[in-house]
Amino acid sequence: MTGDPWPSIVCPECAMESWHPKDVEEGYCGRCHWWTGDPILYAAWKADRAEQGILSAAQVDGREARSSGAVG
Ligand SMILES: [Zn+2]
Repeated sequence: MTGDPWPSIVCPECAMESWHPKDVEEGYCGRCHWWTGDPILYAAWKADRAEQGILSAAQVDGREARSSGAVG
């Protein structure tokens, strides 16, 4: 196993991986259109969305999994 010659960043929000040097450097996600790799900016972004009642994909998935488990 050798080191990865192409550093990449994985978005904590949508799990998209980017190899773009600027994305890696700034922690920017082209899908979310936000710097989700930056802890401070990512936290502020999530707090802003929570105020607007927007759930993250992970939260929605969890709710669906729980409700579907009760069916049947
Ligand atoms: Zn993303």
